[in-house]
Amino acid sequence: MNVNPGRIQLVSDDITRLAVDAIVNAANRSLLSGGGVDGAIHRAAGPELLAECRTLGGCETGQAKLTRAYRLPARYVIHTVGPIWRDGDQGEPDLLAACYRNSLRLAADLGVRTIAFPAISCGVYGYPLEDAARVAVREVGNFLAGNDRIETVYLVCFGEEVRQACQRALQGG
Ligand code: ADP
Repeated sequence: MNVNPGRIQLVSDDITRLAVDAIVNAANRSLLSGGGVDGAIHRAAGPELLAECRTLGGCETGQAKLTRAYRLPARYVIHTVGPIWRDGDQGEPDLLAACYRNSLRLAADLGVRTIAFPAISCGVYGYPLEDAARVAVREVGNFLAGNDRIETVYLVCFGEEVRQACQRALQGG
C-alpha cells in the first residue's frame, strides 16, 4: 500500500470537537438520531441537524448521506449506517467496508481535505473491534492510495480499547 502513513491519524477525542472538513456519523437506517456517537453529534449540532435528516428518507446499510454540520466545528456531517454484527457471515465485512468507501467518495466529491471517522458499528452494533479496525485501516488506505485530494483521515478512538485495536491494525497486525 503506497500511502504515507501520516495521512491516517489516530485521535483520542470526542468527534464532535474536531474542526475538520467532515465528520462521519455512525447512524441508524432511519437517520433520526439514536444513542452513542449519533446522539452526541445531534446534541452538539443542534435541532437543525435532525430537521435536515428528516428530509433524507433514511439510509441503507453501507450507504452514506450528507448534511450540513450546524453548530459543530466541522463543515459537513456524512451519515453512514454500519452493519449490525450477527456472526460475520451475513455480509458484515463488505457492508462495513462500503461505509468507509462510500463516505470517502462523498467527501472527495465535496472537496473535503480532512475527515474524521468514529469506529463504525463498534458500539451497540457489536462489531468485533479488532476486525472492524482492520477493515477501517484497509479501506481508508486503499482509498487514499487512489486519491491525493483528501489530505488526512482521522480515526477517532473513543476509549483505550478502540485505540489499541486501531494501532494494531495500522501496524499491520
Ligand atoms: P454503532 O451503532 O455503529 O455501533 P455507536 O455510536 O454505538 O455506533 O458506537 C460507535 C463507536 O463510536 C464506538 O466505538 C463508540 O465508543 C464511539 N463513540 C461514542 N461516542 C463518541 C463520540 N462522542 N466521539 C467519537 N466516538 C464516539
